[in-house]
Amino acid sequence: MDWSEHFPAFANTSKTPEFADIGCGFGGLLIALAPLFPNTLMLGLEIRVQVTQYVQDRIAALRMTSTSVTPPLTSIAATPYQNVSVVRANAMKFLPNYFPKHSLSALFFLFPDPHFKARKHKARIISQALLAEYAYILKPGGIVYTITDVRDLHEWMNSHLESFPLFEGVSEADLREEGKGPILDAVYNSTEEGKKVERNSGEKWLACFRRKTTTRAS
Ligand code: SAM
Repeated sequence: MDWSEHFPAFANTSKTPEFADIGCGFGGLLIALAPLFPNTLMLGLEIRVQVTQYVQDRIAALRMTSTSVTPPLTSIAATPYQNVSVVRANAMKFLPNYFPKHSLSALFFLFPDPHFKARKHKARIISQALLAEYAYILKPGGIVYTITDVRDLHEWMNSHLESFPLFEGVSEADLREEGKGPILDAVYNSTEEGKKVERNSGEKWLACFRRKTTTRAS
């Protein structure tokens, strides 16, 4: 991938995306996190053409109209939102085309499509085969964040991640202690789907996993 078109302000750096939002929908998470981590590149992947276009337009408008109130002196980005972009892609097929081995520190699956019927479960975004890809692109120590309002899907994602040897569960409390509170707050509250669940007073089920560090190359 040539990232310079997506992140022109970072074109003369060797940075690649570190946060990936899978099925980013209308982009709420990316827009919330971009100003909090101005030197971290973030990419949303979304399968719907028009929704992807909407997010692209949203980011372009924010780049044009936003000015950094207090630009950090060390920041490479002169204006906010230079560090966020989106691609239209089927994340279940093409993820390794976008992200090199061990390049991501965070992978988000926020309110993924539940695919309720058993015969549709193979369409779920968490499966043993896909977890191998997620483990490949995540840095050791990187975090998978999942959240859903569907308890059955929560249990599905949790059990698949738990039984995968390269992931270990990490509690919300531990992540907050490590300083990841702002990320968790955005995971709960910033996405369009999360806000809809909030409006309907639905429950939200969070499950987070750390990509294990292994002694042998994996
Ligand atoms: N994460 C967003 C949120 O919390 O508001 C959107 C949640 S929405 C229920 C699920 C999103 O995943 C939809 O926008 C859908 O188009 C997208 N999606 C479903 N399958 C996908 C795939 N294979 N690759 C990329 N995006 C996908």
